[in-house]
Amino acid sequence: MNILLVEDDNSIAEPLILGLERDGFSVNRVRTGSEALSATDPEFVLLDLGLPDCDGADVCRVLRSRGEVPIIVITARADEIDRVVLLELGADDYMVKPFGFRELRARIRAVQRRSQPRSDAGGPVGTERLEIDRRTRRVLLDGTEMQLTPKEFDLLAFMATDLGAVYTRNDILEGVWDTHWYGPTKTLDVHIAALRKKLGDPRWIETVRGVGFRLLQPE
Ligand code: CA
Repeated sequence: MNILLVEDDNSIAEPLILGLERDGFSVNRVRTGSEALSATDPEFVLLDLGLPDCDGADVCRVLRSRGEVPIIVITARADEIDRVVLLELGADDYMVKPFGFRELRARIRAVQRRSQPRSDAGGPVGTERLEIDRRTRRVLLDGTEMQLTPKEFDLLAFMATDLGAVYTRNDILEGVWDTHWYGPTKTLDVHIAALRKKLGDPRWIETVRGVGFRLLQPE
């Protein structure tokens, strides 16, 4: 797998490159946002937010708008606002400096596991009224395409894997995000609320009190 490493700081980039190459990855290292955006077809992106020519968040947004490449953001800022912003930008995960290489490797593997079903498998799932195509990441509700953010799609597709089954909050956080992304925040509830609104009927996503949620076609 070819990893695009976007990091201007040699003291961080050099040991990362050594470790990643030892693990069998090929690494294309660049130092600026503009170089990152002109890199050809990366399969995985490690993206520093503090870049010399622009804000890494903008790079993240542009990369995500081009497609589904997994992105792990590397940041020196650990506050909650950044997490929400990164989510909106479509990052798959983030790491706060300083971090160990073993932790990074574990995060890369986790993101890879989560992103694989998107591209490989994934025939259509859903109900008569709601058709979810995981290959093209399109959703039709009563024949009309829904406009979903990447995480809204992931959440809907995750719950549609086993229609009517109850998914616990932990199942969802682990399957769609990593639990370390959020901890006790309201992000899941915010996404559930947004999906219900877009589905036009809150009964599509039933809250199972004290347990979690399930997706069902309303009668
Ligand atoms: Ca930097």
